[in-house]
Amino acid sequence: MTSPDTRPARTPLDLVRVRGAREHNLQDVDVDLPRDALVAFTGVSGSGKSSLAFGTLYAEAQRRYFESVAPYARRLIDQVGVADVDSIEGLPPAVALPQQRSGGSARSTVGSATTISSVVRMLFSRVGTYPPGAPMLFAEDFSPNTVQGACPTCHGIGRVFDVPLELMVPDDSLSIRDGALAAWPTAWHGKQLRDSLISLGYDIDVPWRDLPEEQRDWALFTDESPQVPIFTDRSPAEVQKAVAAGRQPRYMSTFLGVRRYVLDTFANSKSARMRERASSFMRSVLCPSCGGRRLKPEALAVTFEGRAITDIAAMPLDEVAELMGVALAPGWEPQGAGPLAPEKRLAAQRLVAELLARLSPITDLGLGYLSLDRTTITLSSGELQRMRLATQVLSQLFGVVFVLDEPSAGLHPADTTALLGILRRLRDSGNTVFFVEHSLDVIREADWIVDIGPGAGATGGRVVYSGELEGLRDVTESVTRRYLFGGHGGDAGTPARASAARDTGTRTTFSDVTRNNIEGLSVSFPLGCLTAVTGVSGSGKSTLVNQAVPELLRTSLASEVDERDGGAGGGGGGETTVEDPPADALLLTPSPVATAGRASGPAERLRRIVQVSQKPIGRTPRSNVATYTGLFDRIRSLFAATPEAKKRRYAASRFSFNLPSGRCPTCKGEGTMEVELLFLPTVHAPCSTCHGARYNSETLEIRFEGATIAEVLGLSVARARELFAGDLEAVRHLDALLDVGLGYVALGQPATELSGGEAQRVKLASELRRVQRGDTLYLLDEPTSGLHPADTDRLLEHLQRLVDGGNTVIMVEHDMRVVAQADWVIDLGPGAGDAGGRVMAEGTPREVARAEQSVTAPFLAAALP
Ligand code: ADP
Ligand code: ADP
Ligand code: ZN
Ligand code: ZN
Repeated sequence: MTSPDTRPARTPLDLVRVRGAREHNLQDVDVDLPRDALVAFTGVSGSGKSSLAFGTLYAEAQRRYFESVAPYARRLIDQVGVADVDSIEGLPPAVALPQQRSGGSARSTVGSATTISSVVRMLFSRVGTYPPGAPMLFAEDFSPNTVQGACPTCHGIGRVFDVPLELMVPDDSLSIRDGALAAWPTAWHGKQLRDSLISLGYDIDVPWRDLPEEQRDWALFTDESPQVPIFTDRSPAEVQKAVAAGRQPRYMSTFLGVRRYVLDTFANSKSARMRERASSFMRSVLCPSCGGRRLKPEALAVTFEGRAITDIAAMPLDEVAELMGVALAPGWEPQGAGPLAPEKRLAAQRLVAELLARLSPITDLGLGYLSLDRTTITLSSGELQRMRLATQVLSQLFGVVFVLDEPSAGLHPADTTALLGILRRLRDSGNTVFFVEHSLDVIREADWIVDIGPGAGATGGRVVYSGELEGLRDVTESVTRRYLFGGHGGDAGTPARASAARDTGTRTTFSDVTRNNIEGLSVSFPLGCLTAVTGVSGSGKSTLVNQAVPELLRTSLASEVDERDGGAGGGGGGETTVEDPPADALLLTPSPVATAGRASGPAERLRRIVQVSQKPIGRTPRSNVATYTGLFDRIRSLFAATPEAKKRRYAASRFSFNLPSGRCPTCKGEGTMEVELLFLPTVHAPCSTCHGARYNSETLEIRFEGATIAEVLGLSVARARELFAGDLEAVRHLDALLDVGLGYVALGQPATELSGGEAQRVKLASELRRVQRGDTLYLLDEPTSGLHPADTDRLLEHLQRLVDGGNTVIMVEHDMRVVAQADWVIDLGPGAGDAGGRVMAEGTPREVARAEQSVTAPFLAAALP
């Protein structure tokens, strides 16, 4: 790290000077922050780090930007609210890279989000190898999201609906009259179609399988829709005679083959019930024309170094870089084409150089295992943040502040070197980097530390220390200091396990596991123990823990897998909004890729599997921390039980912002209204009737211990614990949230605005509240992300208690202080993607710390008590 004396002394011009910051819990904070430096904001969860970094500094920079680009938007800015601060001087424009709070668009991919795909398309258009005689295509012709490029059969989706034979004819021993063609309509229309077949010479009274093959194929698959004469009240033989004689029929009917009938009904029927019935005979399958590659055949025929553009999109970025690199070698000629014309060679080299420049920060940040076609919704929030960071490095901005939220989330200690490299690159090109961070290794590398606290909420909100690392050593009040410099129980503060080592003998074993980058892996986990799965990012930890383990336990041991991810969660009765999936949702659902392999173990110890992932807990802002955990049901009952509510006969439902009786009629309980701005993103402004309260004024006249229901939703968990101290049930809910370090979160915090780590801890809190039966396996994904080491220790105590109760915990983890406290460690590696997916070491933390080929070992060794 740059030592202080190699940098010139700072003048007031190099400082961002904050005066009187009072956002949220900040207590009139004055602080001077260096510019052109890496500034880490530290402190326990809820101390006020985000309130200062995002709520004050970023918000203020944003407001100034708004004002400069759109003076007319002033009124809106006032409505949206400005940061509560007296003044900030020397603040450059800011770019925020928060952790992803809600899923992106289903069509967004790594390639489109980084804009690398557009360069690849340009490359294929200009210097691709075309089949002889084929015309040159435009860049857009290589995109499945344009009309020009999309496969005409599946319209660029890659999958089409099919009506499989076994669904059309589930029982081929039946005759047509007895309903062999199950997918045909019932009732009158069905009879009419059967009558058409009689006129067409079918025997509808023999088992379906005994009909001639051409007859069967035609009835099922024909795309013709002939007009067929219908004769009623005659035997089949008489009908066929009448048809042959050309007699006048009763009427003419349009015949529809079974497949055609199902597809037409699904696409065109006005009746939702009919469409639903039709969809039950359909399956989505790979598009037969493009094979799922989504592009038109002409585009798929163009290659670069022997690969189609879709092959490149499916490759790990590391390999793309390698493949492209050859084009820069002197004398390079593309595979399968004649010698390159000089101007083409020049174009190829320029485009390839551009591609490599865009790829390098991404691969440097340890994301080289991703592919361009990977959808961004399948990325973790840490991966997404690092991808955006890599894109920013290229934007060549300078004189800007970047505000980051825990950039180390999801990173193995071995990968943090690259992260620091990128942060330093941003700084050295003249930018300032403010980042909220918990990883001690990353904090130690900052130029400047702002420690907020000392506690959370009302006991925090002060600047405990602002300066270079060494100076923090003597600040006894700082909680962070203990972990940075040791002092409280061992170096780096890893607490020693109090109890004796657990028995790791009883196991569940997974054999021949194959999924994503894992191939034929065999691995076993000790039951009644805490196991940490480690490895660099992309090595396969989530593939193993989040996908393979639950799937194999469900299929091999019939365990009940409880994915605590849906909005319905811990039973917010009546509060959860259920959305209908859009009609075309089926089209976009990828086919389920099943894990290959087997699980074995004592089934009675694995009856219930609880998967607590970082997926968001709700798709709608109407779901929040209180409704998700079920706490809000209790709070509404408490409001309904107040004397005034009883007098007015207000039921608990009155206190729901989802139901008409109690909510604000203008915004229907949203609290905000959307405001469209020309050329600017849509702004959500507080509702002009309720000013964000969400309820109507009569409902707000009811108070519990002095607070309205709207005020209760605005309380942090910690404050609510004080307000509801007298109610045991509410306290149980609130304590569970406090135990997982969520004391700072507001009860009404929309589920869509929680970070991945917070969402996971909300789910964990609901789970910790349940009665423990000792037969449960918990699967966790980096449960400590977003937690200060002090909060991490507290969470870990709870996990240890779950295990003491006979349950099993398996977690993906990067924090070596936490891994050191596990009973068992499984280290995957050695690298990412195809270079990973193997077990490099397994055993107790001490054993793994000594393993020679493990990348994790040295970091773990340093963290052992
Ligand atoms: P940190 O980033 O250190 O975890 P925050 O800045 O998010 O802490 O929170 C600091 C305090 O401010 C907490 O007590 C929290 O409850 C409160 N707070 C955070 N966001 C809001 C909000 N939108 N409205 C009211 N209070 C908030
Ligand atoms: P880790 O959890 O160790 O960071 P992952 O299990 O997420 O690693 O990824 C391991 C490999 O599997 C990577 O090459 C990654 O790109 C791939 N992978 C993970 N999830 C998916 C997915 N949903 N679809 C395709 N590939 C995936
Ligand atoms: Zn297609
Ligand atoms: Zn309103």
